Amino acid sequence: MSQEKKQESADRKGQTSEEMIAAMKQAEHTRDLFLANMSHELRTPINTILGLNELILRESQEEAIKEYALDIRQAGSVLLTLVSDILDFTKIEAGQMKLSDGIYDVSSLLNDLVNGISIPLRKKKLDLELDIAKDVPYKLSGDEIHLRQILNNLLSNAVKYTDRGKVTLHLGWNRLEGDEIEVDFAVKDTGIGIREKDIAKLFSAFQRMDTVTRGKKDSTGLGLAITNRLVEMMGGRLEVQSTFGKGSSFSFRIVQKVVEDAPLGDFEEKYNESLHSVKNYKQKFIAPMGRVLIVDDNAMNLAVAQGLLKETRLQVDVAGSGEECLELLKRKTYHVICLDHMMPVMDGVETLHAIRSLEGNPSVDTPVIALTANAVAGAREFYLEAGFQDYLTKPIDAEKFETMLIQYLPSNVVYLTKEENGDGADAENENEISLLESKLSGIGFNIRNGLKYMGNDMALYGRVLQDFHLILKEKEDALRGFLKKRDMPGYAIIVHSLKGNARNVGADDLADEAFELEKMSKAGQLEDVEVRSPILFNLMKSMRKDLKTYLDSESKAAKNSAEPKEEEKVRITDDEWKKALRELAGRLDDFDGDSVNEKLKELKRYDRPESDRKMLRLCEKAVKDYAYDVALEVVNAVL
Ligand code: ADP
Repeated sequence: MSQEKKQESADRKGQTSEEMIAAMKQAEHTRDLFLANMSHELRTPINTILGLNELILRESQEEAIKEYALDIRQAGSVLLTLVSDILDFTKIEAGQMKLSDGIYDVSSLLNDLVNGISIPLRKKKLDLELDIAKDVPYKLSGDEIHLRQILNNLLSNAVKYTDRGKVTLHLGWNRLEGDEIEVDFAVKDTGIGIREKDIAKLFSAFQRMDTVTRGKKDSTGLGLAITNRLVEMMGGRLEVQSTFGKGSSFSFRIVQKVVEDAPLGDFEEKYNESLHSVKNYKQKFIAPMGRVLIVDDNAMNLAVAQGLLKETRLQVDVAGSGEECLELLKRKTYHVICLDHMMPVMDGVETLHAIRSLEGNPSVDTPVIALTANAVAGAREFYLEAGFQDYLTKPIDAEKFETMLIQYLPSNVVYLTKEENGDGADAENENEISLLESKLSGIGFNIRNGLKYMGNDMALYGRVLQDFHLILKEKEDALRGFLKKRDMPGYAIIVHSLKGNARNVGADDLADEAFELEKMSKAGQLEDVEVRSPILFNLMKSMRKDLKTYLDSESKAAKNSAEPKEEEKVRITDDEWKKALRELAGRLDDFDGDSVNEKLKELKRYDRPESDRKMLRLCEKAVKDYAYDVALEVVNAVL
C-alpha cells in the first residue's frame, strides 16, 4: 500500500471511531430519554386507570361490578410493578442507577414500610413483629429511596409467600468510626420457605420457583434480582436463610452516617397506637364553603381528584390548562389551588409564577399545591423552591390530600367530622393536631415531631411553646455575648442546648442550623461561627416574632371562648340535642329565616363540645350568607 493510501485509510479509521463514539453517545442519550419517557408515559395512564377504578370500587353498589374492579386493581398494580421493575432493572444493568445521599428519619422510613404492607397483612391475618433497636440514632444520612425499595421488596415477598404466622422486621446497629454506623436489617417470615437447590437461583432475573404454591398472580420474578443488586451497590450483601416449609430470612448490613444522635425510641409501641387510630377511615372534614381549583391537562386526573373530594362537599372547579386557570382566577377567588406540573404550553411552575404576578389577582397569595407523578428524591425541595406551598404525588392518596387541604383551607370553612365509632378521642386529637399544624407549620414548627417528644400531649405542647418563646430571647442574648468575647466553648454549650430545645418543639430548621453552629464552635472555628451566626439569629428573631403573634392570638381566643361559659350554659342530652338539630334542619328546609335564627340562638345556649359549637358557627355563617342549602348540609352531616 502506498504511503498516501495508508494515511487515507488511517484517517478514515480515525473518523470512523470518532463517529462511532459520537453515535454511541447519541444512542445512550436516546436510550436514557426513552427510559425516562417510557416511565412517565406508561405510569401515567396506568395510574389513571387505577385511580378511576378506585372510584368505581368506592361508588358502585353492585357486587359484580366491584368484583371486576377488584380484578382490575390486582392486574393494574402488577402491571405498574412490572413496568417499574423493568425500568429499574434496565437502569441497573446499564450502570445508570446512581445512589443518592440524603438525610432521613428512621421512624418515617419504618412507618412507610409498615404502612406499605398493612393491607395484605390484615387480609392474610398475619402478625407483624417489629424488632427495632430503640437506641438507633433517629436521623441518618444515606440513600433512603433505594433502602426503602429494598426493604419494601423483602417485606412484600415475606407477606406474599406466608400464609400463616408472622413477618418480622429487624433493625439493629453498631457504631463504627466517626459518625458512621453499620445498620443491619432482616426480614423474616414463617412462610413456605425455599428449597436449598433454588436458593442459588433466587437472584437471577425472571426466576420464579416452579412449585404450585408459588404460582402467585402478582409475581414478576424481578424483585429479588433488583434488591440484590441495590444492596450490593450500597456496599452490603443480601444473605438468605430458608427452610423449605418453615420460613425464610433475608438480611443485609449497610453503613450509614449519623445526623442526629437522639435515639429513635419505642417504634413498635408507636406503631401499635397508630394502628388503633386508623382502623376506621372516614373522610376527615366537610367544607361546603371551601373553594378549590384543580388544574391538570388530563381530564381523567381531574375526574379522579374531583371524585376523591366529593364527600368533603368542597366547591371544586377544574381547569384543563395553565391558561384556563389564569382565566378563572380573573373571575373567582379560591382558598387553595392544586396545580399539575407537567402540562403542555404552560407548565405548572410557569402557571404558578403567572398566578403570583397576575395584575390585580385576588388569589395572589392563595396556597398552591403541586400535583405531580414525580416522586424522586429532591422533588419536595424542587417544588418548595419553585414557590409551591406543598406538593402531592399522583396517584393521589385521598387521606394525604384531605390532610393537606385541612392544613391550607382557612380554618373557618373547615368542619372536621366526628368519628362515629370507637376511637373518637384519637380522631379528635388528630383533628386538633391538624389544625394546630396549619397554624404553626408556616412559621417553622413541625408539630408532629414536637408532639412526639411530649407523648402527644397537646396542652403540654402549648405550655412548652410559651417557654420556648422566652428561651429564644435568652439564648440569643447569651450567644451574642459569647460571640463578642470570642468564647467558642461557651457558645458551643448554649447552641447545643438551643438545638435540643428547638428539636423538642419540632422547630427542625432552627435545630439543624444550631447543630451546624455547634459543630463549628466545638471545633473552635471562630471565623465560620461569626459568618454563620447572623443566619441563626435571624431565624430566631423571625420565629420569636411569629410565635408571639400566634401566642397572643391563642390567648385572645381562649379569653373569648371563656366568656360565654360565664353566662350559664344550659345542659342538654345528646338525644335532645339531635332533636333540636332536626328542628333546625326542618326550618332551614323551609327557608324560614326568622325561625332559623331563633333556633340558632337557642342552640347556642346549650353546653356542647367544641365540635358542635364549631358546626353551629359554620351554620350561622351560611345562614348569614343566605346559603340555606349549605347550612342544611352542615347540620345534616352530624345527624
Ligand atoms: P416475585 O416475588 O415477583 O416472583 P422475586 O424476585 O421477588 O419475584 O422473587 C423470586 C422468587 O423467589 C419468588 O417467585 C419466590 O418463588 C421466591 N421467594 C422470594 N421471597 C420469598 C419468601 N420470603 N419466601 C419464599 N419464597 C420467596
